[in-house]
Amino acid sequence: MSTFKAPRGTYDLIPPVSATFLAVREALAAPLKRAGYGYMETPGFENVELFARGVGESTDIVTKEMYTLTTKGGDQLALRPEGTASVLRAALEANLHKGGNLPVKLWYSGSYYRYERPQKGRYRHFSQVGAEAIGAEDPALDAELIILAVDAYRSLGLRNFRLLLNSLGDKECRPAYRAALQEFLRGLDLDEDTRRRVEINPLRVLDDKREAVQQQLTGAPLLRDHLCEACKAYHEQVRELLTAAGVAYQDDPKLVRGLDYYTRTTFEFVHDGLGSQSAVGGGGRYDGLSEMIGGPELPSVGWALGVDRTVLALEAEGIELELPAPTSVYAVPLGEEARRALFGVVTELRRAGIATDFAFGGRGLKGAMKGANRSGARFAVIAGERDLAEGVIQLKDLESGEQTPVPLASVAEELRDRLG
Ligand code: AMP
Repeated sequence: MSTFKAPRGTYDLIPPVSATFLAVREALAAPLKRAGYGYMETPGFENVELFARGVGESTDIVTKEMYTLTTKGGDQLALRPEGTASVLRAALEANLHKGGNLPVKLWYSGSYYRYERPQKGRYRHFSQVGAEAIGAEDPALDAELIILAVDAYRSLGLRNFRLLLNSLGDKECRPAYRAALQEFLRGLDLDEDTRRRVEINPLRVLDDKREAVQQQLTGAPLLRDHLCEACKAYHEQVRELLTAAGVAYQDDPKLVRGLDYYTRTTFEFVHDGLGSQSAVGGGGRYDGLSEMIGGPELPSVGWALGVDRTVLALEAEGIELELPAPTSVYAVPLGEEARRALFGVVTELRRAGIATDFAFGGRGLKGAMKGANRSGARFAVIAGERDLAEGVIQLKDLESGEQTPVPLASVAEELRDRLG
């Protein structure tokens, strides 16, 4: 053990668990790649103002959870707490929206940072796969993204997740609702912080997890009763498209989510095996965000799925992914001359696309065979000086124990046949 430990709220990804993590990340992204989403990467930090404006001045993320820093040059930066604001910033900067082909569909995957109180499933450094469809107002686009997330979870074998769905209205109907909600909330017995929130972003009070607050919210006006005709029709279409695709959802009229930029469709995926940190993914429509960060009007929709929590959801359901063995073949040289010759064979096998490892460090036969078994390889290739003089290596099937000599020139071909 070294003097140092991973910082609080973080953890290291270590083999073999890291292979599951990587496979989950790939599985979450796979449906997006089949649906016309292009891969995108943005920096791990941005101008702090981007998040303040884009995520919202009144959100926990901005007021309490950002890792901010001032550079030597005096720039105020923040480690990215989420992906949408950065991706939209980058898309606008690259003028992707001016190509005449809207929506611009993008996906990304990476690390995000929030100074939260750590607990199981809630980390200060976590990983998301995200998708954004920028520049189109079409219920089919909202439905597409939700269906792609459901397909991703299903492809991993997950069953115990639920989709919560709501509409947050738009600039037509939300102001009147906001005022009605504020009037209701001002009559409640709330602490000072929450009373301030009532004035800045009353919708987020609906999201308050505290029992004492939730009890007082019974009878609060709900947005679904205040939606304008356009928002109602839009939401109805999203619901119909989901149903037609075999995607079940639960209406959750209090679903607000922690970010300020959402409009209309809002959704969250929760998993029932995860305790209090049950949200495995979420997203929604953010028609006003582009203008909030200085861009043109670009109605958009997106989601982010948590990789860490999806891995925990797999554990909760007892699902073990079938991952290919990291090593198919393990080479065991007997003696110095064989080491050189077999190292060449290893390189050749790898170049032929066969995952191969080598007994490094000059271990004896026993130690090297132990290494072969631990590696999970299906075959060992073993050679001593006598084998090499005869122009063969011994190919050992590590499942059956059967061993056969194979001419050096045809090792790759033989292994490819046997590995299928
Ligand atoms: P959000 O950006 O808050 O909508 O989060 C989207 C998803 O990212 C959530 O549903 C979680 O699965 C995941 N997530 C958010 N915050 C954390 C965190 N602190 N630790 C682990 N996963 C997180």
